[in-house]
Amino acid sequence: MDYRDYVERLRRWESRATIGQYGEVTEHGRPFPLLCVTTPGARELVVTAGFHGEEPAGPLTLLEHLGEVIDEARAHDVALRVFPCVNPSGFEGGHRYNASGEQPNNDFLRYELTPGTVVDEVGEGQPFHAWQPFYGSPKETLALHRELERHAPPRGALDLHQDAWVKAKCFYAYHFGAAEPYRALVKQSLAHAKVAVHLAVHNLLRTDRWGLIVHHDGSNSDWFHRRGVPHVAVLETTTRTDLVACHAINLVWIRGMIRLVAEP
Ligand SMILES: [Zn+2]
Repeated sequence: MDYRDYVERLRRWESRATIGQYGEVTEHGRPFPLLCVTTPGARELVVTAGFHGEEPAGPLTLLEHLGEVIDEARAHDVALRVFPCVNPSGFEGGHRYNASGEQPNNDFLRYELTPGTVVDEVGEGQPFHAWQPFYGSPKETLALHRELERHAPPRGALDLHQDAWVKAKCFYAYHFGAAEPYRALVKQSLAHAKVAVHLAVHNLLRTDRWGLIVHHDGSNSDWFHRRGVPHVAVLETTTRTDLVACHAINLVWIRGMIRLVAEP
C-alpha cells in the first residue's frame, strides 16, 4: 500500500483520537511523516507496529480496527500511545528495512557484561554490569526512540510483528515478567490460529509449550522492560496466516494488554 494512502485512511480516526507527527524521514527525495495516535486515560499503553516492512498485519490491524481499540481503552480508562507504522518506506515496499536499506531497525540498547565488554543481547537471568541506550539505529527507529524518551515509561507496551520464515499459519509471543497473563491471551487467540509450541525462533531459543518465549534482545520491548515497564509483550503472527486471523489475534492481545494496564 502506498504510505500516502495509509496516512489518509488513518486520518479518518481523527475525530476519535489525536493523530500527531513526531518526525519525518526522507527516502529518495520523498517525505514520510511519522505518526502517533494518542488518547487520554489514567494509565498508558504503548503499541508499536511495522518495524519490519514485510510484516504488514500490525499496521493494517491498527488502520482498520483503531476504533475498537479506542473503545476498549476508553472503557478501562487507559491512555493509548500508538505508533501504527514505525517504518513507513519499508511498509510501502514490503521489505524488512527502510528504502535506504539501513539495518537492523529495532535496536534500542546495549548491554555491558563487564565494564568495557559490550554485547547486544543477554540470556534470561544472565547477569550484566549495566545497559545503555543505543542511538546508532536507522533514522525512523531513532526518531521513535527519541519520541519515547520524551515521555515517562508507560504501564504497558505491545509490539506487533510477524514471522516471515515459519511456513505454518500460527502465532507465538515474547514476554517479559510473569507468564500467566500471556498464557490467557494465547488461549483466547487459539480460536483464530494454532500456537507455535517448541518452535526454534532464534539460534538456540525455542518457544515453550504455551508458545511463549523470553529473550533480552536489546529491542524496543527489552528497553521498555529495562525502564521498569511492568507489562511488555511482542506478538508474532506468521505472514502465512490469513490477514483476518492476524487482525483477530492482534486485537486479542491489544485488548488483553489494555486490561492488564488497567489493573491497579
Ligand atoms: Zn518483525
